[in-house]
Amino acid sequence: MKFAVFGDIHGNLEALDAVLAECESREIDHYLCLGDIVGYGANPDECVERVRALGAPAVCGNHDHAVIGAQNLNYFNSHAKEAVIWTTGQLSESSKKWLKSLPLVQHLPDFSLVHGSLHSPEIFNYVQTIKDADYNFRQMDRPLLFLGHSHYPLAFFDTSPMTYTLDPTIPLDLSVKTVINVGSVGQPRDENPRSCFAIYDTEAAKVELIRVEYDVDAAAEKITAAGLPPTLALRLSVGK
Ligand code: ZN
Repeated sequence: MKFAVFGDIHGNLEALDAVLAECESREIDHYLCLGDIVGYGANPDECVERVRALGAPAVCGNHDHAVIGAQNLNYFNSHAKEAVIWTTGQLSESSKKWLKSLPLVQHLPDFSLVHGSLHSPEIFNYVQTIKDADYNFRQMDRPLLFLGHSHYPLAFFDTSPMTYTLDPTIPLDLSVKTVINVGSVGQPRDENPRSCFAIYDTEAAKVELIRVEYDVDAAAEKITAAGLPPTLALRLSVGK
C-alpha cells in the first residue's frame, strides 16, 4: 500500500495541485495530511477544499488552530500574524468548521500523525534535534511518526545511539521507532524551493521524500496581489 503524506501547504494552491498531480501519477492508495493547510499563501479556502475532497485523515496545525481562534497570536511573528488575520477573512464558514473538527493527533494502526510534536501537541514544539526526537520516541506506541511544522525534511531513528538522516530514501525497520518530517508542500525552508512530501510504501518498507516543481512565480504574485507581506512571496523562490 502507498500513502502520500503531506502538510504545511500554507494556502499555496499551485504547490498543492502540483503535488496532487504527482501523486496521481504514482498510484497512491491513501492520503494523510499533517496540517497547516492555511496561513501565508493566497488560496487558503481552495486548499482546504482540496484536502477535504481527498477524505484524508488530517491533523490540525498551528496556523489552522490560529484561524479558528484556538491559538494565541502572540506566539506568531508579525508576518505570520498578519497572514492569520487575512486568512481568517478568506475562509468560508464550512472550511472553518472543518478545520475546527481536526484533532491534534491521529493514531492509525502502524503510525501516528501530528503537526509539531507528540510531546504536548497543543504547544506545537519543533522536532529539529535528536533530543527533540527523543521526547517523541518516549511518547510513541507505534513504530512510525509522521510530522511537519519545521518545513525541513529529515528522519530520526531510535537506534543506540540515536541517529538521523537527510537522505530522501528512508528505509524502515519497524522494530526501530522512526520520526519522519515530510517537509512542506507550500513553503519549503531547506533552501530547495520545490514542494516536498513523502510516499510511505508499506510493501517496500521505505519512505521516499519527493520534490516537485511548481509555478512559484504564480503563487508569489498572488501573495503580493493579496496585499500580504512581500517577504512571504519572496521566500518561496529561495526555499527559506
Ligand atoms: Zn507550517
